[in-house]
Amino acid sequence: MSQITSEHFREFDPSSIPAGSKLSQYYHIATLANGDPLRLAVLVAKGTQPGKTLVALGGVHGDEYEGPHAIREAFKHIDPSQMQGDFIGVPQCNVPAFLAGTRTSPIDGLNLARVFPGTLDGTVTERIAYYLGKHVISHADLLVDLQRPGPNMNMPSLIGYHEGESVLAKQSREAAFAFGMPVLWGHPNVSKGRTLSFAYENRIPGLYTESPGGNWLHLDESTRYTRGVLNLMRHLNIIDGEIEKENPTHHLIGDGNVDIVPTTSAGGYFIPKVKVLDRVNKGDLIGRVVGLAGETHDTIYSDSDGVVIMIRATPSVVPGDTVFLVTKEYQG
Ligand SMILES: [Zn+2]
Repeated sequence: MSQITSEHFREFDPSSIPAGSKLSQYYHIATLANGDPLRLAVLVAKGTQPGKTLVALGGVHGDEYEGPHAIREAFKHIDPSQMQGDFIGVPQCNVPAFLAGTRTSPIDGLNLARVFPGTLDGTVTERIAYYLGKHVISHADLLVDLQRPGPNMNMPSLIGYHEGESVLAKQSREAAFAFGMPVLWGHPNVSKGRTLSFAYENRIPGLYTESPGGNWLHLDESTRYTRGVLNLMRHLNIIDGEIEKENPTHHLIGDGNVDIVPTTSAGGYFIPKVKVLDRVNKGDLIGRVVGLAGETHDTIYSDSDGVVIMIRATPSVVPGDTVFLVTKEYQG
């Protein structure tokens, strides 16, 4: 492991890092109200030969644990003397949220995945977005954002990509197949404020992952993410070797905006009647919310035909909680 030092984030410049070396360094983002510095760790492996650059981000939400571990494992695995091109990883993008164990920042309440491109003189989260966009994502030929649901929702292990006819969308789709996940989920639209939307606006194809959530680290899922990151480096010819992938079981398509999903109208104890990847028709029973004596508070039916891509796993619900999301099967 190289020596770890700290610089201001504006000093981050992968072109200044010698070819054939690895560098792990902390970069100063802001000084917090209590005087503590806020720093992000950036891991760079610079190939001996020039080539493409893969950027991998983890922990954009603070309560998503597989990505940070996967990025550090992929970084350990790669040998810059054997690389044609570069790898840049930011394992834990939203440090304040990680320290608090929350999705959003405890400092300004903002969701890092909704504020891109950020601003230099904004709040802490907006400043993180600014530095990640301007100094990290901008170097990418391909971006992968290693997400997963937070503590309450369950999703299958999937790779999300931009589905469409543009060159950028096609690059995103090819890279999604190379990542090697069992489930692919194409999105015709990419919502604003995300790492991926920032990348698209800068002509960079992007991908993101999801997998079962929960308030703990799933090591098997993290291993899948590491394998996927290495596969993307093979796909970009940064490293040699065969792509190792699982056969896709599902190819799905839909907007995938988890901000707009069916919610409960009553609180209580949620009992799901379906599992992730079940096929459902519009009007099928998704689950019930019951009271403490078992009386029915709410009955939830599917709003469309398709495949269950997300289902609530935590029984305790209040009115307005997200309970499920159904998406379509790709017809191609
Ligand atoms: Zn997330």
